[in-house]
Amino acid sequence: TLILGIETSCDETAAAVVENGTVIRSNAVASQIDIHRRFGGVVPEVASRHHVDQITVICEEAMDKSEVAWSDLDAIAVTQGPGLIGALLVGVNGAKALAYAHGLPLVPVHHITGHIYANRFVRELEFPLIALVVSGGHTELVHMSQHGSYEVIGTTRDDAAGEAFDKIARTLGLPYPGGPKIDRLAKKGKPVIDFPRAWLEEGSLDFSFSGLKSAVINYVHNEQQRGHDLNAADIAASFQASVSEVLVKKTLIAAERVHAKQILVAGGVSANSVVRTEMEQAARTRGIPLIIPPLKLCTDNAAMIAASGTIGFLKGTRADLSLNGKANLAIEDF
Ligand code: ATP
Ligand code: MG
Ligand code: FE
Repeated sequence: TLILGIETSCDETAAAVVENGTVIRSNAVASQIDIHRRFGGVVPEVASRHHVDQITVICEEAMDKSEVAWSDLDAIAVTQGPGLIGALLVGVNGAKALAYAHGLPLVPVHHITGHIYANRFVRELEFPLIALVVSGGHTELVHMSQHGSYEVIGTTRDDAAGEAFDKIARTLGLPYPGGPKIDRLAKKGKPVIDFPRAWLEEGSLDFSFSGLKSAVINYVHNEQQRGHDLNAADIAASFQASVSEVLVKKTLIAAERVHAKQILVAGGVSANSVVRTEMEQAARTRGIPLIIPPLKLCTDNAAMIAASGTIGFLKGTRADLSLNGKANLAIEDF
């Protein structure tokens, strides 16, 4: 099966060709990070405009590099949501135009299922599995009993993990996107500050990061008021330790609850070095195989959309030319 995937849900314009859901033939990404940095975050209107500029070039680049002919493709898969509506529309309309022009089926994809399927480039998935999705907009524990089946068994009650990283980075004066900057700064510090861990009710698999966020911000203000020099590296390390500990423990509880054969980690925060090492250690201790994508497949890309789209294609999921982007698409419908 040869699928062209297209992704424009946030600030990456991306296209990729994937074979059998497991082999990347090409993977083109145009990131807008440098453009949005001066605003301190993604500006939706600016993102849409740049997607319009890039979409044609990126799709051509993905096709050229793949050495696959349009006539050899089986389908075009595109991110339908969730994401920024104006940004989604550019990808959806581009995909519709290409599907129509080349007489190819159109397969709608849920962005988060893409993040999960980035793991299939590392190893074949085995079910049941637990996927921890930690990205800029999501923090979810997803139970999968087979390909293309998603049951959310835990979710955040306030901020997403990536959002918390970005906000704390801003408090510490680090530029957007803050996650990678905190990760790097934390390596120079120690997790000596005792920030809270939100376990919530006994047995709950939900997350909450707003209390931690307030605790860090209050700590910074108090230190400043007392005229102390801020040890930003220690603050970053302590914040990261709190996030990581909760993510890892809840993921392992979920995995044991469903007798998971695998644990997957997905989304931008799975690039975090402490989350990766602590998850590896915990999974090894319990003897549960763990998959985490290589760094460049953790953040937004279209190879993962093509990989999830392959499953949708084989299940018979199709969209016609009335397909529309949807900012708040539910994963259970996929
Ligand atoms: P969603 O996938 O929920 O729609 P998104 O696509 O914007 O949101 P991703 O691209 O998956 O999110 O991930 C971006 C997020 O990952 C940002 O919040 C960023 O700060 C965070 N991130 C990236 N690298 C790291 C890292 N090394 N440590 C912590 N966070 C990181
Ligand atoms: Mg992004
Ligand atoms: Fe994403």
